[in-house]
Amino acid sequence: MSAVTKSPWVLHYDASSCNGCDIEVLAALTPLYDLERFGIINTGNPKHAEVFLITGSVNEPQITVLRQLYEQMLEPKVVVACGVCACTGGVFRECYNTLGGADVAIPVDVYAPGCAIRPEAIIDAVVQGLGILEEKRVLLAAGKLEPAEMPPLPSAANKTLQGRSVALSWKDAIAQAQESSKEEPSEKEAPAQEEK
Ligand code: SF4
Repeated sequence: MSAVTKSPWVLHYDASSCNGCDIEVLAALTPLYDLERFGIINTGNPKHAEVFLITGSVNEPQITVLRQLYEQMLEPKVVVACGVCACTGGVFRECYNTLGGADVAIPVDVYAPGCAIRPEAIIDAVVQGLGILEEKRVLLAAGKLEPAEMPPLPSAANKTLQGRSVALSWKDAIAQAQESSKEEPSEKEAPAQEEK
């Protein structure tokens, strides 16, 4: 095992979590669960991190943030989706502005479901990630590590919900609002009452 996998640093990013999973991530770092026994330290700097821990579902503005953080992390690196929201969008999946889990923005190496995810499951997922990190380190040292393929850029305006396009729903709503505003005369257009 190399120094990278003996003492990996973690970058935690809350996409749009309800904070349930974030509390569990903090619990995993406390002395009770003691993630630090694996040499793991939570850092705020992507350039120092090897493990990218994501909680919560992803909406359109967060795609840019997630990609920027991911690209600032040096190789080898692994991405762990923590909680069902980060895996698939979870309970927020059907929201008009939710595009899905972390893998709509960046490549994910380990999926760790749960709502909220338990600290033991977070530790298990990070340790799984360390195995992948070691494989990537060996490939990098041999000059054979290919950069992971980025997913295509999704858009909330092109999202389809239950067979209906969200963009079409917006257009329908605007058309209906325009139609109803034509039917109801505004105050300016209302005929002035005759003075006695
Ligand atoms: S998986 Fe559950 S606890 Fe975690 S962010 Fe989603 S709703 Fe909250």
